[in-house]
Amino acid sequence: MNIVLLGAPGAGKGTQAAKLVEEFNTPHISTGDMLRAAVAAGTELGLKAKSYMDAGDLVPDDVIIGLVTERLQEPDTANGFILDGFPRTSPQAVALDAELSKLGRPLDAALLIDVDPEVIVNRLTSRRMCRACGYIGTEADGPTCPKCGGEMYQRDDDNEATVRNRLDVYEKSTSPLIDYYRGCELLVTIDGDRDPNVVYADVKEALNL
Ligand code: AMP
Repeated sequence: MNIVLLGAPGAGKGTQAAKLVEEFNTPHISTGDMLRAAVAAGTELGLKAKSYMDAGDLVPDDVIIGLVTERLQEPDTANGFILDGFPRTSPQAVALDAELSKLGRPLDAALLIDVDPEVIVNRLTSRRMCRACGYIGTEADGPTCPKCGGEMYQRDDDNEATVRNRLDVYEKSTSPLIDYYRGCELLVTIDGDRDPNVVYADVKEALNL
């Protein structure tokens, strides 16, 4: 499966990707996770990206396109990949198409996980993540990861002001990709405002899995 997960921040892309990875072992390419790892490691990329991320703005296209293009060269992606959080702008979508056509690996689907913005503000401000295994939970999980016992933390950009900016950025820069992928006949829309397992059943059906 060569797929793109589309949807606002907090729609559940990471949660659905994690389920697909667990069941099918397909490489999960999350640009947000890659950037957070670069910030944590203090690399040049991380230093460049941090201020954009803290403000909820997009990291410049050339930086992100380079990162994903490089990742797609790695052999583990030859049998499929799940792109999560990329593309987020029209130039990124065009660059992805060009790269995939060069590699002879066209997209099978762009899955839009659709959730109302006000639901998202509540979801993201109460979201917590595990530093050790990446589990995505909520503040109700407490300080310890229910999966691996690691430390649960709140992402720097999950405060309300930044979340609202991220939603504005999504509306302006990323939502035009919905029409883009509809035009390519790749778009599948899934109601993301339901239990994650119910959403996942629809994701698998949409992908004929
Ligand atoms: P995410 O984890 O997908 O919500 O991404 C967290 C942050 O990383 C975003 O708010 C952006 O600052 C940055 N980011 C992630 N993916 C991209 C992308 N495709 N283009 C530009 N910035 C990105």
